[in-house]
Amino acid sequence: MSGRGYSYLTGKARNLKYFFNQGPLLKHVVDRIKFNILPKYFIAPNFPTHIDIESSSLCQLKCPMCKQRLMAKEIKGNMNFDLYKKIIDECSRRRVYSIKLSWRGEPLMNPGIWDMVRYAKEKRIKDVAFLTNGERLKIKDIPKLVESGLNWISFSIDGLGKTYEKIRSPSKFEDIVEKLKAIKEYKERRNLKNPLVRIQTFYSAIKNNPKEYFDFFSPIVDRINVGADRIEIGSKDFPRDRDFICPTAWQRMMIAHNGIVAQCHDDYLLKNPMGNVNEKSLYEIWHDEPFGKFRKLQKTKQQDLSLTCRECPHRGLMNEKVLKIHDKKVVIEKFTGQDFDIKKINAKKLFRRERK
Ligand code: SF4
Repeated sequence: MSGRGYSYLTGKARNLKYFFNQGPLLKHVVDRIKFNILPKYFIAPNFPTHIDIESSSLCQLKCPMCKQRLMAKEIKGNMNFDLYKKIIDECSRRRVYSIKLSWRGEPLMNPGIWDMVRYAKEKRIKDVAFLTNGERLKIKDIPKLVESGLNWISFSIDGLGKTYEKIRSPSKFEDIVEKLKAIKEYKERRNLKNPLVRIQTFYSAIKNNPKEYFDFFSPIVDRINVGADRIEIGSKDFPRDRDFICPTAWQRMMIAHNGIVAQCHDDYLLKNPMGNVNEKSLYEIWHDEPFGKFRKLQKTKQQDLSLTCRECPHRGLMNEKVLKIHDKKVVIEKFTGQDFDIKKINAKKLFRRERK
């Protein structure tokens, strides 16, 4: 069920329960089959089953591993509601199964985020979710979060205690834990399963204490994801998997806050735009020449011809690490030669570099 470079600390039974509760079961299974199987046969569905909509490309944090800092101020902003409605209305007509309201920025930077969730649910999008750092979430807004109709939400919590605070500065570990507990309590009081709450960390942030991380969060959240470390776009110094064909070209569409459709989630600087939603429908863009060319490059393994794919850390060679959590073995997928050394993270240096 996991994507490339994503593993789980939670066990199979727990992950299955998460899967079953994520949305209407039959539709969810059909969607997952389309999403995961069609790319293997290079079949593009008539319309993508999943759309990523960037509610905001702004972020208040400056995490050292995040490519946000490569983005110029001029390309940061919130999506306006009229553009959002246009996108959702087409998604609804085309029966899109899932949307995610996050990409390069922090969704809670957009004051209209809860209206966005509600509108998508009113338009019968089955699976609505977003990723957040949670720093902007206020305890008083937790009823709004839970009642919005969100199917799941993912909090980025890299490591425990001081490690987290170093990476996610100035967020406080205690604060984020308090928010997760408050969501759990509110759901229990209202006897609700959704939104499911997952957390995710990158591997190096927990590699010295995976068991402690699991034990701490396991009672509070529904699922625990571990993402492989991925070094910055532009770094050339890691082994590539020359056989890898990226499935994204047949799966999903990534819409930036200003309506530009990016090639994929790694096209942070919009080097390979596929079109603009202000000018064309999503359907037209999905069937237009740029997407056709993009699929052909992937299929013929000529990814080096794409400015974004050429440098993408996602094409790295994979290896596995086996962890022992209590009596269970947990297999973690990693990219070879892409590990972060947390001790060397120098947030101040990174902030200086951004200001230049
Ligand atoms: S840049 Fe290329 S390889 Fe990387 S995620 Fe995008 S499509 Fe896949």
